[in-house]
Amino acid sequence: MAFSKAGLDMKVFDTAVIGLGPTGATLANLLAMQGLSVLILEREAQIYDLPRAVHFDDEIMRVFQNIGIADELLPMVRVNPGMRFVDKENNLLLDWPRPQDITSQGWNASYRLHQPDLERLLRKKLEGYDLVTLKTSTRATSIDQTETEAVIRTQTGSTNRSETYRARYVIGCDGANSQTRTMIKSEIDDYGFQERWLVIDLILKKDRPDLGDHSIQFCRPDRPMTYCRGPGNRRRWEITLLDTEDENRVTKPDHIWSLLKPWITSDEALLERKAVYTFKSQVARNWRHGRIFLAGDAAHVTPPFLGQGMCMGIRDAFNLAWKLASVINKDAEHPLLDSYEDERNPHARAYVEMAIKIGQIIRSINHNDALNDVSGHRTRSGEMRSITPKLGPSSLTAPRSNSNTDIEGRPATQFRVQPSDDLMDDVSGYRHVIISNTRPEGIKDSIFWVNASEQEEAAKLLMDLDAEAAWIRPDRYLGAATKSIQELYEYLPNFLKNREKCGDFNETSFS
Ligand SMILES: Cc1cc2nc3c(=O)[nH]c(=O)nc-3n(C[C@H](O)[C@H](O)[C@H](O)COP(=O)(O)OP(=O)(O)OC[C@H]3O[C@@H](n4cnc5c(N)ncnc54)[C@H](O)[C@@H]3O)c2cc1C
Repeated sequence: MAFSKAGLDMKVFDTAVIGLGPTGATLANLLAMQGLSVLILEREAQIYDLPRAVHFDDEIMRVFQNIGIADELLPMVRVNPGMRFVDKENNLLLDWPRPQDITSQGWNASYRLHQPDLERLLRKKLEGYDLVTLKTSTRATSIDQTETEAVIRTQTGSTNRSETYRARYVIGCDGANSQTRTMIKSEIDDYGFQERWLVIDLILKKDRPDLGDHSIQFCRPDRPMTYCRGPGNRRRWEITLLDTEDENRVTKPDHIWSLLKPWITSDEALLERKAVYTFKSQVARNWRHGRIFLAGDAAHVTPPFLGQGMCMGIRDAFNLAWKLASVINKDAEHPLLDSYEDERNPHARAYVEMAIKIGQIIRSINHNDALNDVSGHRTRSGEMRSITPKLGPSSLTAPRSNSNTDIEGRPATQFRVQPSDDLMDDVSGYRHVIISNTRPEGIKDSIFWVNASEQEEAAKLLMDLDAEAAWIRPDRYLGAATKSIQELYEYLPNFLKNREKCGDFNETSFS
């Protein structure tokens, strides 16, 4: 990874990523993996170190696997057994157990993490790419775009030195108060949830197995709270603040220990970090303006009750990265980029809406009404199920008569390839995959073919899909599952078919 050099402002980067939180760091890795030059502009000098994400899921671990950090991350995380919702008398209202075996994604369903550990690993991985230029302590202050590029102005360091950079595409991963979002004048849909919570991270000085490994939602209308078991000896409490409570007073250690007294004392744990957040539920209406995109918290913020805010940003990055590479390398044409917002925006909304419903259970006076609201997400025995929304319809996912519309637009199963027993993504690499019994004709050499007649697990996947052929995209979502390889060929977008590169298509024809 190269650091600031004089004369950089003359270069046109393929991509510029504004903000190096988990979304920006994931995206920058995925872009660099595809051979694109990436300029990263990050306002802060160091990784943000206030209490934030403690959970991610199997789909997200698969993204980390594709980036190449899963093996290093694994010892730092903890498999999560689930979440329990209890009332004031500690009676169980709702159980949300998470499967303990390996899921269809090839990983565990749910992990507990310490967000800075993840961010450090993502940054370390970026250091291995010569094509990545990181400018820390550098704030993007404006972005203009022409027909061929975007121009970003920045201010660096305590002197506010101004610099100018050029990139073909800019992705604003600059968090909840995104200036990029303001610059592209995207309006925000506010779902109305807004609550102040005090978030406390402790490090146990001695073992406290009685606290348990499950997350607990204390559903008390007067003061809802959450307990989370983190990796190692980390423990988290999240506590609602009353309107009358003053932020400066509640964050004083004495006050924090008085709130935690029913569970733990200062003799047993160190107060590591604390912060007051206003949890909001907002989704930007437009995620793209020409060459400028939004991803992560810049595009959506959610109350954290599902543990999905960061996960949503990482899904954005996985969805967008291959599309940007396809267009920059002139394999695909510009309209492919429209599919990013079309697919991701409704998907993110599904998580925000569900998180609000969970918030209502935690705060409700009449628990039954709130529990009824999630009845569609419960098993017959009454346990809660994780939601698995489909990508929104796009030029890539639009249903066609021959395709199986219910399964497309969801994460594809990851199986083990024999005889090595390696996970499929490790064998295929970061690219499109076709699974079929006969070799597909007329597709690009860069597409990885899995011969289902030689791979039992691949054959089983086709059987489960009730299909003869399947297309898995680089973001590992199922693009299509069809009754024959010919039908699949018809379904495939043109940019995956073996024809001359697009040539000089009109890059300015944004829709
Ligand atoms: C209490 C709490 C608990 C949470 N729990 C979970 C959880 O369990 N699971 C989960 O998935 N999510 C969780 N989240 C949400 C998660 O932390 C966020 O969604 C995630 O950090 C967003 O990542 P991001 O990269 O999009 O934005 P950020 O992490 O906010 O990063 C944005 C970056 O952009 C930089 N920046 C901003 N403006 C500029 C500029 N003009 N120029 C240059 N740089 C700029 C910032 O310095 C920052 O580094 C939780 C959040 C909170 C507050």
